[in-house]
Amino acid sequence: MTNTTDNVSSEKIMKFWDKDEIRHLNEQFEEAEPYSVLKWIWENFGDEAAMGTGFGPSGILLTHIVAKSDFDLPIFYLDTGLFFSETYKLRDELEKKFDLSFVRVSTDLSVKDQEIEYGSELWKRNPNKCCFLRKVLPLKNYMADKKVWITGVRRSQSDTRKDTQLFEWDPLNEVIKVNPLATWTTQDVWAYIRLNELPYNPLHDDGYPSIGCIPCTHRVQPGDHERAGRWGGLDKTECGIHLPTQNDGSV
Ligand code: SF4
Repeated sequence: MTNTTDNVSSEKIMKFWDKDEIRHLNEQFEEAEPYSVLKWIWENFGDEAAMGTGFGPSGILLTHIVAKSDFDLPIFYLDTGLFFSETYKLRDELEKKFDLSFVRVSTDLSVKDQEIEYGSELWKRNPNKCCFLRKVLPLKNYMADKKVWITGVRRSQSDTRKDTQLFEWDPLNEVIKVNPLATWTTQDVWAYIRLNELPYNPLHDDGYPSIGCIPCTHRVQPGDHERAGRWGGLDKTECGIHLPTQNDGSV
């Protein structure tokens, strides 16, 4: 890290995010609806906050709230170049429906160049490295001038997410991470989607409750956990942006 980055980091930490303040925010917004959380973020941080989505149900719900509230929060997606065609179609459909443009965040390393540099199908041999190159690092670069990262992470999604707080410090990106749906269940989210007749990825109706990159997303069996189809057969449950221990770590 350069001195400049150190200075920016220190400024961010000192000015905004000490532990007591985060605890206070969690207490203040404990019972709050996602709308109130997003409103507070917009009013306090404007476009120094950004919301990430992979176009899953939680992200669609939050995008709907942002769009109908006229918060001009940037909404970005980490495009690995390895998404299902259904995901890209859904992106286009959501942009049209909500009259907004998602910010595409990606690596300059094309899938083909990755193959040349690291060998074919890196996701099979070293998925942590692959996620680091295609997701963790692009996110870190995008977050460099942000102070807040809003996500759709929920406690009920998996064991690794069960301790998710509404407001958390993200040491990797040096931003406050806000999870307005932390306490929502999968059923809550789908009820919202259906009530508001929002579009969603048709693969969800075909055995894929959680959808990421093609090589690392598989159908689940009835009764499986909703993220069971991600990195199936590998000792990996997260891409590393939400759980830094599951990325290559070589920032
Ligand atoms: S999810 Fe799989 S293909 Fe996508 S970036 Fe991670 S390892 Fe690579």
